Amino acid sequence: MSREKKVEQYDVCVIGGGAAGLTAAIYSGRARLKTILFEKALVGGLATYTNEVENYPGFPNKPKGEEITNLMKEQAKNMGVEFKLTDVKSMELSGEVKKVETFRNIYECKVVILAMGGRPRITGAENENKYLFDKGISFCATCDAAANTDKTVVVIGSGDAAIEEGMFLTKFAKKVIVSVLHHEGKMDCNEIAKEAALKNPKMEFVWNSTVKRFEGEEHLDTVVLRDLRTDEEIPVKCDSCFEFIGYIPNTEVVKDQIKMTRNGYILTNEKMETNIEGVFSCGDVRDKWLKQVATAVGDGAIAGYAAEKYIAESETFHEVILQKEKPGLTFIYNAVDAESRDFLIEIEKIENHFEGRLVVNRVDIYKSSGIADRLNVTEFPAVILTVEGKVRERIIGEMDAKRITNLLDSICIECK
Ligand SMILES: Cc1cc2nc3c(=O)[nH]c(=O)nc-3n(C[C@H](O)[C@H](O)[C@H](O)COP(=O)(O)OP(=O)(O)OC[C@H]3O[C@@H](n4cnc5c(N)ncnc54)[C@H](O)[C@@H]3O)c2cc1C
Repeated sequence: MSREKKVEQYDVCVIGGGAAGLTAAIYSGRARLKTILFEKALVGGLATYTNEVENYPGFPNKPKGEEITNLMKEQAKNMGVEFKLTDVKSMELSGEVKKVETFRNIYECKVVILAMGGRPRITGAENENKYLFDKGISFCATCDAAANTDKTVVVIGSGDAAIEEGMFLTKFAKKVIVSVLHHEGKMDCNEIAKEAALKNPKMEFVWNSTVKRFEGEEHLDTVVLRDLRTDEEIPVKCDSCFEFIGYIPNTEVVKDQIKMTRNGYILTNEKMETNIEGVFSCGDVRDKWLKQVATAVGDGAIAGYAAEKYIAESETFHEVILQKEKPGLTFIYNAVDAESRDFLIEIEKIENHFEGRLVVNRVDIYKSSGIADRLNVTEFPAVILTVEGKVRERIIGEMDAKRITNLLDSICIECK
């Protein structure tokens, strides 16, 4: 990273201003964390391209996607979130202080939330850009099927998504014409989907074909296919075209830093944690089953909440557990385990014995395992003794109050 850039400090940097990033920012802003959100294109993300969102709970009147995301943006601003309309060029994610670099600045922060979403793969055929999203080319059957009731649609692709979404479209459209790259009977989807599709009376197939061109006045009305064997053009009249030839996650910027699937989706656990401490990911950019606004919002809420917990835990760890003023005893226990809970009484006795010359912490891993993880403690109960902010002794498993007192007496003269 270049050194001349201005450096600013934040608690949380959110990369991506779609539904997921906006929600994460609302949560972290509400937790009074100094939060900045970066967006390189449109705040609101992919949802802003959708004319009617029929399936986002609480909005029965089929609002435009941007009506929903504008409200999220307003809410984030009310929570004190700052917005930076710029492309994040690179990031340094390892270590306690993370760095996010834009064209002009470097932003240092404690937590990074990756919410860069993705983009549908397109065919690259002639005139395609003219009809993208609300002009006839769609990438989401769940979103746009109802608008094609009793209409004729073309589906591009023959993978699982294409065939399953194509089948879903037959519940609404009167005809679904599928362009397949391969020879008759060969598809990229699973056998069950293939059999069902071939039997579906509303589905027709154009084998050995690719898209050559899109045509229409304002709105798409013809997909011109090309026969791969003869090079002949096959014009197909239609009301909409659905492209299902893949989705590309926007993860180039964190490539080689974060664990991803083979296809470039970020791997997280259910707390939206990535493989790097203090780095969370949410929304379409992560490896997940259903990519929708509702699930992006759910992910974002978890990521924002997890960020707050991570920062609080980090502060407790450095300022309380590893404090340097006095020797420290940290008792890590599980409140649901009677044996470790009972030892709390012995811990209190030890605390009284040292009459304020010892800092005693009690950490219940049932509520959160973060502190235990940072101390590399995997078995409970455990006692960690620290001197001048460094771990001196670790007692794991069987607890013996006398032994702990003796150890404390011997490791630190001022405790006596
Ligand atoms: C045509 C279409 C219609 C849809 N209709 C519906 C629907 O009706 N209902 C529904 O629930 N879902 C719908 N979806 C799905 C829904 O839009 C997505 O699931 C949702 O937008 C995901 O939100 P996100 O925040 O994860 O990602 P996105 O909305 O993709 O937002 C990610 C943002 O990150 C930004 N970004 C990426 N990289 C960087 C970087 N390096 N620096 C700064 N910013 C960056 C991008 O510009 C983008 O704005 C539709 C999708 C499509 C394609």
